[in-house]
Amino acid sequence: MSSSKHSKVIIIGSGPAAHTAAVYLSRAELQPVLYEGMLANGIAAGGQLTTTTDVENYPGFPGGIGGSELMDAMRTQSERFGTKIISETIEKVDLTSRPFKLWPEYEEEPVTASAVIIATGASARRLGLKGEDKYWQNGISACAVCDGAVPIFRKKPLVVIGGGDSAAEEAMFLAKYGSEVTVLVRKGALRASKTMAKRLLAHPKCKVRFNTVATEVTGEEKANGLMTGLKIKNVETGEEEHMEANGLFYAVGHDPATAMFKGVIDMDSENYILTKPGTSYTNIEGVFAAGDVQDKRYRQAITSAGSGCIAALEAEKYLAEQESEEVTDGPEGDNQASKPVNGDGPEYRSNPLL
Ligand code: FAD
Repeated sequence: MSSSKHSKVIIIGSGPAAHTAAVYLSRAELQPVLYEGMLANGIAAGGQLTTTTDVENYPGFPGGIGGSELMDAMRTQSERFGTKIISETIEKVDLTSRPFKLWPEYEEEPVTASAVIIATGASARRLGLKGEDKYWQNGISACAVCDGAVPIFRKKPLVVIGGGDSAAEEAMFLAKYGSEVTVLVRKGALRASKTMAKRLLAHPKCKVRFNTVATEVTGEEKANGLMTGLKIKNVETGEEEHMEANGLFYAVGHDPATAMFKGVIDMDSENYILTKPGTSYTNIEGVFAAGDVQDKRYRQAITSAGSGCIAALEAEKYLAEQESEEVTDGPEGDNQASKPVNGDGPEYRSNPLL
């Protein structure tokens, strides 16, 4: 059970952004409390990396490291400096008055905080194809940048599903490794920007099949067997065929875990939290956002960790300023109505690194 005590800062989430923020805040002796979630948003505590095997692009691990192992190490590091980790999901928040109120699952009384860091992440959309569960991470991936370089894809036919900029970008990235890359587009045209579409269509190793969907992933029947093919269907003619494919990359979007912040925290049309560029500031002073929940472009462990660091440093500064205001103005400082900051601030957008 969580304590109903007030915390200086509460972190919601448990991926690289949340734990990096926790390490910085606990080392700054701010006693952060981190709600890691209990299968929140359908993902285990530790975040998206717990759903993958080897992570080869996180600095410091020249031989790669297992996704869960990396997240266990981050959790241990957060705890080492005094972060209190609570294995509950935050179900509801009230960020409209101070102190901020957060309701952990199964609890009637809210916990309160002077500052909140939202690091609830995102989840890659899946298509629910026949064979998808069996070959997930055994040929199927939702991240070309993360997985494209692994040996099972080298000089092999690969498929990307999606028609937007991400699909085009991922296909051209994968063309470095695969023998050829086929992009399956459900509609008769690409949604990607003109420039990206032109580059993709002209790429010597990429081909686009329009009006085509995948229906089933096929492959080795043994335990942990790899995918080797894909059944596809032309949606106009109904014609079906089986194609050779050793890799299948979904580029059909991600869903940020932001439902409980709707109407209070400013978001873009895809429900990513908007932050002031180059910072973790949301439209509410004292509420910060880090990681994939506010980054629809890079979506990497290292960029999430970097933005977790930014959020921690900004929360620390905010708390110090609050404290000095309280000393000057008396004890009312924490009770004032929330102070939106976007009215006179610069334009907000969903990626602090842009
Ligand atoms: P996430 O990792 O998304 O974690 C957020 C956590 O918050 C989740 O555990 C969720 O349950 C929890 N949460 C959500 N809502 C609540 C709530 N209300 N209360 C409490 N907790 C909540 N990146 C790389 O750099 N290299 C790779 O090799 C790589 N491989 C990947 C492989 C796969 C299969 C996937 C899906 C992603 C991969 N990524 C990789 C991307 C990387 O995992 C993400 O960019 C990164 O994990 C995002 O971190 P985050 O801190 O924003 O949050």
